[in-house]
Amino acid sequence: MSAPSGIPAEPRRARWVRPAVRALRAYPIEDAAGLVKLDAMENPHAWPAELRAGFLEALRAVTLNRYPDGEARALKERLRAYLGLADDRGLVLGNGSDELIQMVGLAVGGPGRCLLCPEPGFSMYRILAAVTGMQHVGVPLDGADFGLDVAAMLAAIDRHRPAVVVLSFPNNPTGNLFAWRSIEAVIEASPGLVLIDEAYFDFSGETLLERLAGRPEVLILRTLSKIGLAGLRVGFLIGDREWLHEIDKVRLPYNINALSQASAAWFLSHAGVLREQAARIRRDRDALYMALCGLAGIEVWASHTNFLLVRAPGRGASLHAGLREEGILVKSLHGAHPFLTDCIRVTIGTSEENAAFLAALRRRL
Ligand SMILES: *Cc1c(COP(=O)(O)O)cnc(C)c1O
Repeated sequence: MSAPSGIPAEPRRARWVRPAVRALRAYPIEDAAGLVKLDAMENPHAWPAELRAGFLEALRAVTLNRYPDGEARALKERLRAYLGLADDRGLVLGNGSDELIQMVGLAVGGPGRCLLCPEPGFSMYRILAAVTGMQHVGVPLDGADFGLDVAAMLAAIDRHRPAVVVLSFPNNPTGNLFAWRSIEAVIEASPGLVLIDEAYFDFSGETLLERLAGRPEVLILRTLSKIGLAGLRVGFLIGDREWLHEIDKVRLPYNINALSQASAAWFLSHAGVLREQAARIRRDRDALYMALCGLAGIEVWASHTNFLLVRAPGRGASLHAGLREEGILVKSLHGAHPFLTDCIRVTIGTSEENAAFLAALRRRL
């Protein structure tokens, strides 16, 4: 039966859902029930019981009948102290840094405009470009070392005049840091905004925050997800107050909920624990990297993040499936980009989880 207006449902969808949205595939999230979860760059470490008790106590003061502070003032104050942020730098919070990328897209996107980024890169850039009505331009990295191909980037910038260029520093899923000279050349050539996504700052220890302080057109993106608060969905954008004032206009009111505001503020006042856990993850990453280097039949790349990119030549998607049968969930990258053929991405877990991954990998190779 057709809809009351006489137009069958399917042609109606085809008529109204934007072509860019119809062409999208939603961000894939695999069911991890019962598996060792090493697919999403989460911090695997639990908090000591007495600290958890303190956190639950802090939540008692949260009221849920009122809207949260729309400006998240207390959390922003904590964040500024945590970051040592100068008073002249602006700060906008997002429901995860994904939302901030979307906000940037809503502020500068639209027909005839594009988002340009190197590839392979973080898959949400492509999705959010489409969602915010922008063309997406992917420029291949240098296939030899996954560095920026500066000549190709500059040619693409010249040709497409992107509204926004996004550089992930370090890059996901390749795990490397782009050279400063290459980044600088891209910034110099860009006619619009440049977004530096430092989602893995806690594991790289490298930031362009100070270096880019005098450049209002460059914004720095960070998140609390990877260091250990993925469940709260809190990301933040740092940069020029005037630029951020414009971007803040597309933010939905109260985008950071009351529980996330209170929780994030509490955890940031115990940031030492988070930093210790990040240091442990870095050590475990380096140990797993060394162990993988000693395995025949795979390639592994050094990483400045909390994950490792691993290639098993000739295995296609079967290694991911095999590990899944072994009870280990990693991310399959096979087919995502020509440079990622036969690749998986494994998040650093606890020592026990990493050992289980390694043992399962040995059995499956
Ligand atoms: C994980 C990730 C994000 C998203 O983080 P959220 O703050 O959880 O939305 C952004 N950028 C990169 C490169 C990431 O890997």
